[in-house]
Amino acid sequence: MSEVKKLVIIGSGPAGHTAAIYAARANLDPFMFEGYMSGGPAGGQLTTTTDVENYPGFPEGVNGPDLMELFRKQAERFGTEMYREDVSEVDFSKRPFTIKSEKREVQAQSVIIATGATARRMGVPSEEKMWNNGMSACAVCDGALPFFKNQPLMVIGGGDTAVEEASYLTKFGTVVYLVHRRDELRASKIMQKRAFDNPKIDIVWDSVFVDALGEDFVTGARVKNIKTNEEKDIPLAGIFYAIGHTPNTSVFKGQIDLDETGYIKVKSGTQQTNIEGVFAAGDVHDKVYRQAVTAAGAGCASALEAERWLAEQGIE
Ligand code: NDP
Repeated sequence: MSEVKKLVIIGSGPAGHTAAIYAARANLDPFMFEGYMSGGPAGGQLTTTTDVENYPGFPEGVNGPDLMELFRKQAERFGTEMYREDVSEVDFSKRPFTIKSEKREVQAQSVIIATGATARRMGVPSEEKMWNNGMSACAVCDGALPFFKNQPLMVIGGGDTAVEEASYLTKFGTVVYLVHRRDELRASKIMQKRAFDNPKIDIVWDSVFVDALGEDFVTGARVKNIKTNEEKDIPLAGIFYAIGHTPNTSVFKGQIDLDETGYIKVKSGTQQTNIEGVFAAGDVHDKVYRQAVTAAGAGCASALEAERWLAEQGIE
C-alpha cells in the first residue's frame, strides 16, 4: 500500500489553498489534488473573473487569476504537494480513506473537500464572447466596475440570489431589470418584498433571456415573453446570471451526506461532514455567502479542525 498521507485536500480555490497554508504550517504535509477541468479550472471561480475589489488587503483591487497564483505560491512555500488532476473516485467507507485521480491513488487519514461550485450558465449564442465583457454570474464581484456605473443593468433569475444581486446593483445602475421566467418569484417573502419595494428594480415577468446584443461589449439584451412569444431588445450595459449554482460534488455522491441540492452537509458551526475525518470548506457547502474571503475563512477553520481531529487520533 502507498504511504498514508495525514491530510489530502481536494480543490484549489481560496478554501483549498487556505486550508493548505494552515495545514502545512501545522506540519500536516498536505497533499492537494488541485483539479484540472471538472468543476472549472484549477484555482476556482476567481480564475475566471477579472478585477477582484472586495478581497481585503488589496486597496486597489487585484486581478482574479493573479490573486489565485498568490494563494498557490503561499501554499507551495510551506511545502504543499500539489497535482493538477481531477479526483475521479473516493472511498470514505473505511480509514485510511482512498482518493484516486486518473494518474494516482492516495491514502489519507483525513480529507478536506474544497471543490467549490459552478455558476450555472444559459449557453446563449454570444455567451462565450461576452463573458466578462458585460456578462457575469456575480454581481457582488463585478457590479462596481466602472462600465456598469449609471447604466441600465439586468439580472436573470427569480431566487434569493437574483433579488440580492439586483438590489446590490441598484447602487450602481440607473435601473435593474429582473428577468424571471415565471409570474412569481422563488425568492423568500422578505427578499421578494425587497425587490417590490425598490423603485430601481423593474421585474420583467414570464420572460427568458434570448441573447446579449453588442459587438465586443454588451450594449443590450433580447428577452422573450414566453406567454406572448413577443421579443424585445432592451438597451443596457450589464447582464448578470443568478440562476443558481451547481456544487461540484458528483464524485462524492453515495460517500458523504449531501443536501437535496447536492451541497455537502456540515455539522452546524463546524466544517465536519457526517464522516469523521472528512471536512468541507467553501462554496461546496456554503450556498449563502459564496465569497472568496468566506471560503478562505472556512478553509482555515477546516484545517484547524482537521489538525485537532488528527491529534485526537494520535496522528501528529
Ligand atoms: P435558486 O435555485 O433558489 O433560484 C434559481 C432561480 O433561477 C429560480 O428562480 C429559477 O427559476 C431560475 N432559473 C434556473 N434556471 C434557469 C434558466 N435556465 N433560465 C431562467 N431562469 C432559471 O438559486 P439561488 O442561487 O437564488 O439560491 C440558492 C440557495 O441559496 C437558496 O436556498 C437560497 O434561499 C439561498 N440563498 C439565500 C440568500 C439569503 O438568505 N440572503 C442569498 C442567496 C441565496 P424558477 O423559480 O422558475 O425555478
